[in-house]
Order: sequence, then C-alpha cells, then structure tokens
Amino acid sequence: MSQPESHQAPAGAHLPCCLVSACLAGLCTRYDGRSRPSRACRRLLAQYRWLPLCPEQLGGLPTPRTPADLVDGDGFAVLAGRARVIDRAGRDRTEQFILGARQVLAVARAQEITLALLKARSPSCGVHARTGVTAALLLQNNIRCLEF
Ligand code: SF4
Repeated sequence: MSQPESHQAPAGAHLPCCLVSACLAGLCTRYDGRSRPSRACRRLLAQYRWLPLCPEQLGGLPTPRTPADLVDGDGFAVLAGRARVIDRAGRDRTEQFILGARQVLAVARAQEITLALLKARSPSCGVHARTGVTAALLLQNNIRCLEF
C-alpha cells in the first residue's frame, strides 16, 4: 500500500531567505581556491534559509583566478562607468564583475530577498571599506547588506 502524501513543510521553510557570499558559507570560491568561513556569519545564518552565491563565478571567472582590484573608484563608480576592475595581470574584468553583480541581483529579486551577508574587503562583496560592485548594485536596489 502506498504511503499517504505528506503535506508537512520542509524544516526551515518558515524562515526568511537571505543571500550569503559563497566563500563566507564555506564554499571554496575565492580567487585562491579557498573559502573564508565566518563564525559570526554562520550564527546569523541559523535564523535564515540561505543561498550561497559567488558573483565572480557567476560573472564567468574561473576558480582559482588572478585577484582583481577596483581602479579609480568603488563599485558605485564601476556601475556608473567611471571606474574599472583590473586584475593583477592587467586584464580588464569590469564586464565580468558587472555581469556577476546582475546575476546576484536577479536571484535576489526572484526570491524576494531583502538581506545579503557579504564578505568584507572584496572588490565584489565588500560593503564598507570600499564598496564592491555586487554590494553596490544590491544597495542601489534596497537590499540590506551586512559584511563579515
Ligand atoms: S566574489 Fe564574493 S563570494 Fe566570491 S569569492 Fe569573492 S568575496 Fe567570496
């Protein structure tokens, strides 16, 4: 005899959803092929359903990859066309960084996400010291960004 179908929601389904930088969540997405897990971030994640994303991978860059820096401005300036992202081999990666940021925003919109937990001091994910390209785009779209 077949089992009756369960209508119970999966565990955690009632929790709000947030985005998290994939490297903060423990995935090996950094330029050097490593992760950068944060205990404080993991503690906060316990209150959410969370989606780990790496904008630099979503923009088409490989892992590992040559690290890149914001040149002539922050992520807001990159989005406005007044600054660039250049990797340490001298290659212009602006297009990939903007594409990755747009992909992250598209996921946030599709999932109606209003909070992102982001890796500090990253040209994509950094929020405060020098806002990265993804963080800038999320902030411009009223998504709250916390950094770790
Ligand atoms: S782009 Fe963001 S998620 Fe990806 S490795 Fe860098 S800091 Fe982590």
